[in-house]
Amino acid sequence: MKYISTRGQSPALGFSEILLGGLAPDGGLYLPETYPQFTDADLTAMRGMNYRDLAFTILSRLIDDIPAADLKAIIDKTYRADVYRFARKGQNAEDITPILKLEDNLYLLSLSNGPTLAFKDMAMQLLGNLFEYVLAKKGETTNILGATSGDTGSAAEYAMRGKKGVRVFMLSPHKKMSRFQTAQMFSLQDDNIFNIAVNGVFDDCQDMVKAVSNDAAFKAKYKIGAVNSINWGRIVAQVVYYFKGYFAVTQNNQQKVSFTVPSGNFGNVCAGHIARMMGLPVDKLIVATNENDVLDEFFKTGVYRPRGSANTYHTSSPSMDISKASNFERFVFDLLGRDAAKVRELWASVDKGGAFDIKELMPKVREFGFVSGSSNHACRMQTIREANSKYGVVIDTHTADGLKVALEYFDKAAPMVVLETALPAKFEDALVEALGAVPERPASLNGIEDLPQKFTVMDADVTAIKDFIAKHT
Ligand SMILES: *Cc1c(COP(=O)(O)O)cnc(C)c1O
Repeated sequence: MKYISTRGQSPALGFSEILLGGLAPDGGLYLPETYPQFTDADLTAMRGMNYRDLAFTILSRLIDDIPAADLKAIIDKTYRADVYRFARKGQNAEDITPILKLEDNLYLLSLSNGPTLAFKDMAMQLLGNLFEYVLAKKGETTNILGATSGDTGSAAEYAMRGKKGVRVFMLSPHKKMSRFQTAQMFSLQDDNIFNIAVNGVFDDCQDMVKAVSNDAAFKAKYKIGAVNSINWGRIVAQVVYYFKGYFAVTQNNQQKVSFTVPSGNFGNVCAGHIARMMGLPVDKLIVATNENDVLDEFFKTGVYRPRGSANTYHTSSPSMDISKASNFERFVFDLLGRDAAKVRELWASVDKGGAFDIKELMPKVREFGFVSGSSNHACRMQTIREANSKYGVVIDTHTADGLKVALEYFDKAAPMVVLETALPAKFEDALVEALGAVPERPASLNGIEDLPQKFTVMDADVTAIKDFIAKHT
């Protein structure tokens, strides 16, 4: 299996060759040359599989440059009940992504039972083990540089802590993350994890990462890497739980399932699209946004109009506060029948801060199953309260955006699965506002705010961060 760039001007490469990088050299994103196909007979064989066997069956069709036995060992080490251990009472942690029935045909797929209580652990934990393996094979090391406003940074650090050949330098805005998020990251004492609290906002952190990455000489000398949401290894890991969720709520392969996905960078729902392209019987893929509704606008009108970071709202579902959806280019490439020249033309406009209009392709968008909706703070609070009173389930703010939009499309006749992207304990303040009570927290995380913290405070100064990296490698 070779991977090609959405912009069509980079050489086709194997999985292990694209794993450690971000963008393709031509500025595009990698996708498999063709999507492997799962037939009806394949699906029947996969139906009873546990998470690990299912993951191996799917990933081995997309990763052919790691020996099967090694890939199996990496997967078995990743998807364990003691890693994804924060299942709700009554759920089986062995399911890795247990399903929770809300009412007939309406379900939550629990993706947030991993170490940092958000769905990003599903992919990032696999990435950590894949990175360690591939780096060892190549005899290389990498220094991952990232910026976070909370979820990505913690998921990356918990995935990479203690991994040989990997160091993580994670920039976060000083005193701007929640106490819980700060404690999760800063309490890590591992020698290969460096938390840098920047005097500034998230955009300052991101600008510093960009500035360092744009210095080609520095980047090469210090082997600067990234694990951001466009990394193909993350997308591929996320494909698996769409299959797992599908099998959990159907009895046969003639049934179709709709998935509603709380979305920001379009990474999670992009994996749903790929699962569908590989033969999973998906009906609708419902993109749920918060007040930052770039994607909802596109799926309603065919106009893609990124907003720019100055026009990004800070909301109570902060992990969906994006101004442009980095993975969206992958979907548009397929939508255009894989016309890379056309992708280049559209993104020539986007990369200059512009927009594009492809409303003539809306029938094709619907054929691919895509529809959308958006939510806001009031809807989110209301949905959290309703889920609690009607179903007795406490959900987080991002999942609430998903459930709110799902209910606009749910017709009770066919299964609808809402992806749960974080546990409520992660967003205590908003939950207190909605329910008047602090959400339950896994017992082992009680008191995490009181643990000793390891971090360095720094001004938003590119030279200072470069010096810091140089000194610690
Ligand atoms: C990252 C994140 C999202 C958005 O996922 P994308 O793949 O960027 O669309 C939604 N909810 C939570 C809790 C997240 O951490």
